[in-house]
Amino acid sequence: MNELEELRKRLDSINVQILELLSERGKIAQEIGKVKLKQGVNRFDPVRERYMLDQIKSLNQGPFEDSTIEHIFKQIFKASLELQKDDNRKALLVSRKKQAEDTVVQIGDVPVGGGTPVLIAGPCSVESYDQVRQVAEAMSKEGLKLLRGGAFKPRTSPYDFQGLGVEGLNILREVADEFGMYIISEIVSPQDIEMAVDYVDVIQIGARNMQNFELLKAAGSVNTPVLLKRGMSATIEEFLFAAEYIVSKGNKQVMLCERGIRTYEKWTRNTLDISAVPILKQESHLPVFVDVTHATGRRDILLPTAKAGLAAGADGVMIEVHPDPAVALSDSSQQINIPQFLDFLSKLRSSGLFSPRKER
Ligand code: PEP
Ligand code: MN
Repeated sequence: MNELEELRKRLDSINVQILELLSERGKIAQEIGKVKLKQGVNRFDPVRERYMLDQIKSLNQGPFEDSTIEHIFKQIFKASLELQKDDNRKALLVSRKKQAEDTVVQIGDVPVGGGTPVLIAGPCSVESYDQVRQVAEAMSKEGLKLLRGGAFKPRTSPYDFQGLGVEGLNILREVADEFGMYIISEIVSPQDIEMAVDYVDVIQIGARNMQNFELLKAAGSVNTPVLLKRGMSATIEEFLFAAEYIVSKGNKQVMLCERGIRTYEKWTRNTLDISAVPILKQESHLPVFVDVTHATGRRDILLPTAKAGLAAGADGVMIEVHPDPAVALSDSSQQINIPQFLDFLSKLRSSGLFSPRKER
């Protein structure tokens, strides 16, 4: 063996030793991550990193510069932190890694997430008994059972219509019972959760409240299904952590709803993050909805965005319907009227993406 070959052989064997040591280091970092998770301690510890770097540099005898050694070890620290993150994600209850099979949320006799897409429809806000009844009647004739309507409205301006409150929930319940339907309504305050479960079949947690942790915990402490909407500037990871708040309190009946995120685009009210749908389906076992009304804020693209959502794997679509949108007390410009809704429904059905079968 010549000299070069000899040296290369030594290098190859050192590479293997470095790899073995790195793997061992990675495993220990994972163990530390688990302990820190149990203790509720932050994984990133800059003081400890500084100590390790100083110690390593003090022992450095060359030929590498201190700055080079520091750079290499910083990369190792970073990769170890990533490993800990992965490990924590694996541990999430909402994660596929924890539960491989899809969660099917049962809303009365309607299964959500079992392979047959569903439609949630109804007015943005509950305004009157007649208004809700007109929409419910039209839906019922089409075999649709999931009726939405906001009784507590988290409005951007305090001067806008704030909803009818409990009176609104009463209206929804009365109408839903008449037609054998189920209601989905937003609750904005943790103190109202206990009261709300006497009225609603699904508690909605709105985009503006996605990180209202006390509300999430309160919704996790009851058995009523929850529809959690993605915050308008929330990452997918933050969205899943919000869902984890609910599930970790014991309520496993959680559905996720992509409702558009805020971007620089002005021609839609929000930007529908269609890629969130397959990512959520991949990462989590929870059912996923697409709210086309709030995502787009435009009547003219409700149908293509609903189709896109279902084609991307969504378990359901949410849409706002009002008997006379022009006089609606909220979201007047984006709700559709009943004939427009029936047209939307028939086109969605003929696309083959939504069940053509009437459920009644
Ligand atoms: C709603 O669905 O009534 C609503 C207010 O939507 P979001 O929370 O997504 O804005
Ligand atoms: Mn609305």
